[in-house]
Amino acid sequence: MKISMLALAVTLAAMPVAAQAQSAAPQTWIHAGRVIAVPGQAPRGATTIVVADGKIVSLQDGYVPAPAGATAIDLKDKTVLPGLIDSHVHLASDRGGNERLVSAMTDSLPLNAYETYWNGMKTLRAGFTTVRNLGDSKGKVLALKEAVKRGWVQGPRILDAGESISTTGGHMDGRVGLAEDVHAMVGTENLCDGVDDCRKAVRRQIGRGADVIKFATTGGVNSGTGLATRMFDDEAKALIDTAHAYGRKVAVHAHGLDGIKLAVRAGADSIEHGTTIDEEAAKMMAKAGTYYVPTLSTVNGYLERLAANPNAYSPAVRAQIDWRIGITGKSLQIAYPLGVKIAYGTDAGPSKHGRNADEFELLVKFGMPPAEAIKAATVNAAALLGVDKETGTLEAGKAADIIAVSGDPLADVKVLKAMKFVMARGEVIVGP
Ligand SMILES: [Zn+2]
Repeated sequence: MKISMLALAVTLAAMPVAAQAQSAAPQTWIHAGRVIAVPGQAPRGATTIVVADGKIVSLQDGYVPAPAGATAIDLKDKTVLPGLIDSHVHLASDRGGNERLVSAMTDSLPLNAYETYWNGMKTLRAGFTTVRNLGDSKGKVLALKEAVKRGWVQGPRILDAGESISTTGGHMDGRVGLAEDVHAMVGTENLCDGVDDCRKAVRRQIGRGADVIKFATTGGVNSGTGLATRMFDDEAKALIDTAHAYGRKVAVHAHGLDGIKLAVRAGADSIEHGTTIDEEAAKMMAKAGTYYVPTLSTVNGYLERLAANPNAYSPAVRAQIDWRIGITGKSLQIAYPLGVKIAYGTDAGPSKHGRNADEFELLVKFGMPPAEAIKAATVNAAALLGVDKETGTLEAGKAADIIAVSGDPLADVKVLKAMKFVMARGEVIVGP
């Protein structure tokens, strides 16, 4: 079966596009009532989307009857959009605070790999057909990415950073907050101090298969390491220059203002969280073309976990969570009007997997029109991830990453929380 599929793919690749449309590959004809084919542009009315071999063959006006042998899907009473993209997830865990710490000690690596798969499926069923995973340990997400690519399991398209990089004692030093007796159990290969060491840290992740590099210039909320800068300019520059030399983009975790500006100056491709962006930083980002990934959803995760258990986090982490809840959305209110490019990202892991669409509501609450929020989760995120030739819009030749909702997401983004149909690379995952 695998061999014949491969032979078919090779044959199709060699055929001109017009011939492919007539080819023997099984076709799916989707009748869509309304289509936001290219977010940011006016939606189309009744449309027929032809899908074959995991790709979009054509979009035709009106409801063109499906030919004999093709599968027809009726989405005439739905709004159809490109599969959504979450630029900031952590698929390996769906737990926070003390619960996460305990699971790290009690769950085996194979069990954790199943959890990673499970979180990926929650994400996919929520309409997110592509994710950028910004940090895990022990290669669980690298493995899931490969398994999805090989067609062994279902899952979103994954771009993975491997392990997040930070300086010793920084946000991603897994030993922080643990008793010294257990430090030896925690890996430290993701830590770097000084230029040569930081170059090596990037090369190590690329050698493991990382598609993107993630590092932290400042402390973090979940590690209780604070907001202050914990990296020197030359270290950030070494990390970014090395990643870029290998054709990898760089996502920088930064909360404090100095760490945000340091990352932008050093050439970061995106600022993650960016909690204290001010006007000057926003103008720097707009000028440099640096994307902002707000990850406002983290506060939902914090609030839900605290409601279930007031002692869910250690006192040091709790103090920073209270600060983060209070300041949510302020940086977006400054950055978006100043023309900073926004890419959708939730920090699922600290927030809940499968609830990725909750971020839409927060983006709109803090100043983005619904159409722009949808563009952030499709066109913009695809450009940031470098997959814009493959996904992010519904156009002939792109992957058949297609979702549908009831109602009008351009009027009310909350309808994106209830997926009625999800297709990933031509495979139906949800509905119709
Ligand atoms: Zn994160």
